[in-house]
Amino acid sequence: MIKLLSKEVVEKIAAGEVVERPASVVKELLENSLDAGATRIEINFEGSGVTNISISDNGTGMSEEELKLAFKRHATSKISNIDDLNNISTLGFRGEALPSIAAVSCVIVSSRIPESDHAYTYKISGGEESAMEIAARAPGTTVKVENIFFNVPVRKKFLKAEVTERRNIIATVESLALTRADVAFVLKSGAKKIFDFSPSSSKERFLHVFGRKLKDSIIKLEFENPFIKISGFITKAETSFIDRKKMHIFINNRPVYSPLIMHAISRGCNSFIPQGRYPACMLNIGIKPELVDVNIHPSKKEVRFVNQQGIHEILSKVITSELSRTSMKIDITLPDKREYTTPAKRPGVFKVKDSQLNYLKDIDLTRLTEFSFAGQKEDKQDEPAGKIIPRFQWKNKYIIAEDDKGILVIDQHTAWERINYERLKSQFKKESISSQGALIPEVLELESSFSEVLISKLELLKKFGIYIEEFGPNTFKVTGIPSTIGKRRINDMIENIISLFEARGAPPDTDELNDELIKIIACRSSIMAGDKMSGEEVTSMIAMLNECLVPHRCPHGRPVTIRITESELDSKFLR
Ligand code: ADP
Ligand code: MG
Repeated sequence: MIKLLSKEVVEKIAAGEVVERPASVVKELLENSLDAGATRIEINFEGSGVTNISISDNGTGMSEEELKLAFKRHATSKISNIDDLNNISTLGFRGEALPSIAAVSCVIVSSRIPESDHAYTYKISGGEESAMEIAARAPGTTVKVENIFFNVPVRKKFLKAEVTERRNIIATVESLALTRADVAFVLKSGAKKIFDFSPSSSKERFLHVFGRKLKDSIIKLEFENPFIKISGFITKAETSFIDRKKMHIFINNRPVYSPLIMHAISRGCNSFIPQGRYPACMLNIGIKPELVDVNIHPSKKEVRFVNQQGIHEILSKVITSELSRTSMKIDITLPDKREYTTPAKRPGVFKVKDSQLNYLKDIDLTRLTEFSFAGQKEDKQDEPAGKIIPRFQWKNKYIIAEDDKGILVIDQHTAWERINYERLKSQFKKESISSQGALIPEVLELESSFSEVLISKLELLKKFGIYIEEFGPNTFKVTGIPSTIGKRRINDMIENIISLFEARGAPPDTDELNDELIKIIACRSSIMAGDKMSGEEVTSMIAMLNECLVPHRCPHGRPVTIRITESELDSKFLR
């Protein structure tokens, strides 16, 4: 039997498309405030934002009539006919946000237009309206949203850990703040001020969001042709990050998620940034509204271009040309190779004299080649291998060696990862990972959303030899790091750790999480592809690998060694 769905059910379904999580509420309300011409917006939320979000602006406000109408589905002041859809200059236009939010939470709006001497307060809970009341406030609008999903319990189950939801909220505000440097944004969580951005130039705003430390490492992007205008900032080649979180893309000032554009940016950075690293950028693409469709996604997040290929090409070329003006090609991002030839100067793992690596002293470096891979013995098809004789380092990435069964190719990074992983793991099992103090502590400046996550985990990190103290707003002092790690990798390690916490959230102290943390430290303690190794280092590496329990795989499961046997070669040469 076919039935018409009740209004309530329809509302909830529609709401689900717009309101996915607390951050989506924040996004819609901020967009409304910006569309209303606000020059100052204050956002306040508790916990994960589920129980309480409130946004106040000094925009145009709504009259009593408008206030009521605003909560009707498809009520919008922004477009009136189908042609307007091709010419959208406001952030909102579907007239769906307010009714959708009100369908799954309790919303209280107070609003005053400048012509009136008082405000009206209107409350609507789970779609049920209550009477309009007169209230006092300055011209503008405050929207309070309480108990999101109180009537859709299944949705609640899909919410992530509190830290993650908070980070989403903070990132949402930061993202809009990036495009509207002319507007003041204040973000608070309870009594705590997360940030307070006053109106400024777009460069200043970029630095507010990403940290002043990037002051000398960003370049301005500007390009214009009759169809497209690209403007924004991107970090120079020397500065890159481990994930795409610092890439903010806007189409006609609207924050969007666009794999196409992300890809074009990565392509543009290709020859400047090592693979797997990303720039921080804020890129606004101004494009004629008729050349882009912003109406393919309910929360207007995704877009489609009329000429996808063209956009991709322009963007990647603009970025490549700007980067080549200001940066050298990729070698510059690799560590200074001289640093790696004299053991005394080397950071981290190569400090053989480091007290934590004492046992290395007992190994006679000249005789190391006599060790064999203990692990190879476990391989069924492999008989015990004889001694391994390293021959040379190839492309600063692989060690080419031989044993009596064939030619060995050892991946220097994964080999070190395995060595460090096992070493750290045994330290962790015994007590905690040993730490080395920093003479001059490294100071980190993080985005506010990152620092939130970090603060909640400072205690846990001590067990891993990582001592970090809060030092000022969004600023931290690293006073101790695991003995295996070199200074230049601290930032990467911390970024990896924060991403891990975000992905996991609570519960924090499981064995699996501990293991993930150890893997990160092991990875960041390890020599990289691109690092030159001396003969001594190679032999000591092979010796340590030989002592590992599982020498053929790195902790992430990638192979450490590949052997090409004589018989394999014979068959290739058709002997
Ligand atoms: P849309 O933004 O797509 O028009 P919404 O449901 O988000 O739809 O908002 C409906 C209408 O309510 C808007 O078109 C606008 O007229 C009014 N409105 C919402 N928020 C504000 C605000 N903060 N200040 C002034 N008017 C607002
Ligand atoms: Mg809106």
